Amino acid sequence: MVVWRPSLQNAAFLASSLHIQSLAFSFALSSPHRHYHFYLHTQLLQQCIIKPNYNTIPHRSLSLLHATSAAHPTAALLLDKEHSCESSKEGLEVADGKSQAKQKKLQGKFLLGKSLSELEKLAIEVGEQKYRGKQIHQLIYKNKKNDIAQFLQVPKELRENLISTGWKVGRSQVHHTVTASDGTIKVLLKLDDNRLVETVGIPVEEEKGLNRLTACVSSQVGCPLRCAFCATGKGGFARNLKPHEIVEQVLVIEELFNHRVTNVVFMGMGEPMLNLASVLSAYRALNQDLQIGQRMITISTVGVPNTIARLATHKLQCTLAVSLHAPNQHLREQIVPSAKSYPLEALLEDCKHYFDTTGRRVSVEYTLLDHATELAHVLRRWGLGRHVNLIPYNPVADSDFRRPYKAAVLAFIDALSNQKVTASVRQTRGLDANAACGQLRNEFQKIPLVAG
Ligand code: SF4
Repeated sequence: MVVWRPSLQNAAFLASSLHIQSLAFSFALSSPHRHYHFYLHTQLLQQCIIKPNYNTIPHRSLSLLHATSAAHPTAALLLDKEHSCESSKEGLEVADGKSQAKQKKLQGKFLLGKSLSELEKLAIEVGEQKYRGKQIHQLIYKNKKNDIAQFLQVPKELRENLISTGWKVGRSQVHHTVTASDGTIKVLLKLDDNRLVETVGIPVEEEKGLNRLTACVSSQVGCPLRCAFCATGKGGFARNLKPHEIVEQVLVIEELFNHRVTNVVFMGMGEPMLNLASVLSAYRALNQDLQIGQRMITISTVGVPNTIARLATHKLQCTLAVSLHAPNQHLREQIVPSAKSYPLEALLEDCKHYFDTTGRRVSVEYTLLDHATELAHVLRRWGLGRHVNLIPYNPVADSDFRRPYKAAVLAFIDALSNQKVTASVRQTRGLDANAACGQLRNEFQKIPLVAG
């Protein structure tokens, strides 16, 4: 695997979007190993966005952070395990004391997302017999009860005990829905802190009726990566979703369609790899508690340094979809700004390593339909298969990009085929329902990302 050492310029790009840039620079300038210390901050910044996991930071980097924390308040904040980031009009900034308190409140105690054994353990902890945990499991995942007061199958004392000790099921209100003529339903959920998140149900009818139901779920409220073509990126970033806030999106789609969800794609709002802990926890619940096959789940990413290798260690059977969108670094940086901190070569090397480790081929997604020959060469060079999923662009407001004409799509497929690479074009669903990810949310929720 490539050990990628980013240039000063690359790491500075990432740092510039956050308030820890002064710390990044002070570290780097005082050190003979400037590049290494910028690399450290690339890692820290990723973890600043999510709940930090300091186990993954190299020991000597952590020592440096500790050494600086007395003199530098930002270093001290980064070392706070409870630390997380909040959005502001200007972008991301390190959370102050007030927002940390809000985050703590948000942590709550939620039943949804917990496994059968965790619920059985909880039942014993509150003085009940183990089998009550199994009943609760059935009530939340199968009967889809969204309030503990509805748990009529368990004793009143247990319900009262759970409520008085702060437990909740972890279900949110449906704030708004839009149904497209092809049956696709977009849902806005209003979370505990009034933030809105989007989820989409995509039905596929076959002769015998509804056969496949895909839930396209969000992993973050907004997204910090700001890809040039993406409505979610344009709407700003607020916070990561908790595991129960991901699982409930699937339950709400099942309720709206009165049909079980057969497939889940993490292609809604947010970059799943920036919230990997919650995504993995939700993945477990989707597979084991909602019985959705691992191979029916797709995790999509535009690429976040060091996370693909981390995901590979879990040896999941899901599909990893990498949104490439451009066959060379120069073009990719223009479309996906975060590519400045994760060179294309390093991303492709990580994809190859992922395949070697898991045996699961990485699915390549490509949206903007240009440079077919170069794309075919890149895929061949990195052994990434001979198939690409093409996604016709869904236009969003204030974007310079336009949806390609059908002739352009066909010409692109022809050019790939000349290079012996096949392509499938993803059917665009619900275009009349603000289908591009993040568009509906942006209609309802303007900065500062709180519902009116
Ligand atoms: S395309 Fe994905 S990663 Fe890029 S801004 Fe949109 S949600 Fe974020």
